Amino acid sequence: MRLKTKLSIGIGFLFIAILISGILGIFSIYQLKNDARLILEDNYETLVYSNNMLALMDRVPFDSSVFPEFESNLARQEANITEPGEGRATAAVRNTFDLLKHDPSNDSLQTIIRREIYKINTANQEAIQRKNAVAERNARRFSNYTVFIFGFLALIAFTLAVNFPGIISEPVKTLSEGIKAIVNKDYSKRIRISQHDEFGELAQAFNSMAEKLDEYEHSNLAKIKFEKSRIDTIINQMNDGIIGLDESRNLLFLNKVAEKLLGLQEAEIRGHYAPDIALHNDLMRNLLKQDSANKELKIYADGKESYFHLDILNVTNIDKVIGQVIVLRNITPFHELNEAKTNFIATISHELKTPIASIKMSAQLLTDARIGNVNREQEELVRSITDDADRLLKITSELLNMSQVETGHIQLKIEPVSPDIIIDNATNTVSALAQQKNIAIRVTKHTNGNKIMTDPEKTAWVLTNFLTNAVKYSLDDAEIELTTSLKDNNIEFTVCDHGRGIEEKYLSRIFDRYFKVPGTPEKVGTGLGLSISREFIEAQGGRIWVDSKLGEGSTFGFSLPVYHA
Ligand code: ADP
Repeated sequence: MRLKTKLSIGIGFLFIAILISGILGIFSIYQLKNDARLILEDNYETLVYSNNMLALMDRVPFDSSVFPEFESNLARQEANITEPGEGRATAAVRNTFDLLKHDPSNDSLQTIIRREIYKINTANQEAIQRKNAVAERNARRFSNYTVFIFGFLALIAFTLAVNFPGIISEPVKTLSEGIKAIVNKDYSKRIRISQHDEFGELAQAFNSMAEKLDEYEHSNLAKIKFEKSRIDTIINQMNDGIIGLDESRNLLFLNKVAEKLLGLQEAEIRGHYAPDIALHNDLMRNLLKQDSANKELKIYADGKESYFHLDILNVTNIDKVIGQVIVLRNITPFHELNEAKTNFIATISHELKTPIASIKMSAQLLTDARIGNVNREQEELVRSITDDADRLLKITSELLNMSQVETGHIQLKIEPVSPDIIIDNATNTVSALAQQKNIAIRVTKHTNGNKIMTDPEKTAWVLTNFLTNAVKYSLDDAEIELTTSLKDNNIEFTVCDHGRGIEEKYLSRIFDRYFKVPGTPEKVGTGLGLSISREFIEAQGGRIWVDSKLGEGSTFGFSLPVYHA
């Protein structure tokens, strides 16, 4: 039965019960009122008339003055004859009274009237008693009916009141439990409601929804498992080491290469807190260091030395970091190639140095008057040969320095040195070049006679490179300021020019190998000078920097620690 029908029946029954109780009540009251009215109308009034007539007969003297009143009571009695025998007695009273009117003092007539009136009284009193008994019986019957019907209705209403809320609340409770299970991803949950109403239909719909969700979950799970195994295979076949961490830095996975590099098995450490693993594993410690991302690592594993580039990728989900993937990219083949290239460059540069030096020497000898006179054109050609030989020598020396840096073979001869020596050395080297462009180098020294701990040759090389660049990128007749100053236990060297300056976006790459600001003429330099400078300064524990504004000039600087005797 449908819930709507159940509700309609329940409420309809209560309505009918109220209606029946009301009708029964009204009918009982009406019946009782009728019984009382009958007694009152039929008998009580007769008793009043009879008693009035008896009282009038007792009046002394009983004469014609009393007759009209007697007549009126008798007339009313004649109109209210209701009981058997009452009519006959009344008619007797009427006949006798008519006779009495002509003979008022006739005692026998009075006696007859009195007797007949008593008969009327008696008939009515008996009727009152009878009707009263009937009324009482009726009242008892109605009250019995009322008690019975009311009890019956109350019983049904009570049954409804007890059972009806359950018809609604029980299925609602069962449904809400089912929904909670689905919210908690328990798609195997089914609900059973035996009612064949709207709740039953709802339960069926719920069960088929849960079934669909269950199917979907299982098919998705299978798909996810398949995808996972595919990704696992790809990750494991990669030549790079891959390590996955969750947002709390617990280890999620590591591939075969990473297992070899770390010397650990995934099964042993899966789920472990990575910093805890790092306590007993040097490589893991290095990988977790804040500044290790984008760095190159030399790792000795599996009986050989390999080079890896470390990438740390944040895994995000809707702007929230949910983990990290550490990628150790195997760059050993590139490293080997690079090493071969560096060795090749070093060999070539070294081999070229001697013939170039001898070309330079021969060219200089050519201009010597003792060998013979050269005409002006020849002299010009010889100068050009010397300039080119100088440039070649500079390039070969930079390439040699470069290969030293790349192979990690910088050999420093650190000693306490006066900054003046370095300044003199560098300014002397650049002076000829500066003169060619009529550029003045203004030197300001604020070192209070302090010495620095440095390799003088390498540091002079750096300062020379700064000055050469400043001259190269300044206009003719310009000025360059070379300043030394004491700052926080360091001595700072700065070279400031008013040349073309460098665009801000290139400043971060200016110390990179082979980097030349786009637009720099091909012939000018190799793009190695500043990167070698950085290696030389940083190898000595110093700091190097640049400040520049396009069109206004540049300031290159480095600082080195003060020597304390
Ligand atoms: P190079 O030997 O080619 O000058 P560097 O490493 O010394 O190589 O310089 C790299 C690049 O930085 C140069 O190609 C040039 O574009 C830019 N640069 C260096 N110094 C200056 C400067 N003082 N003013 C403007 N640009 C400069």
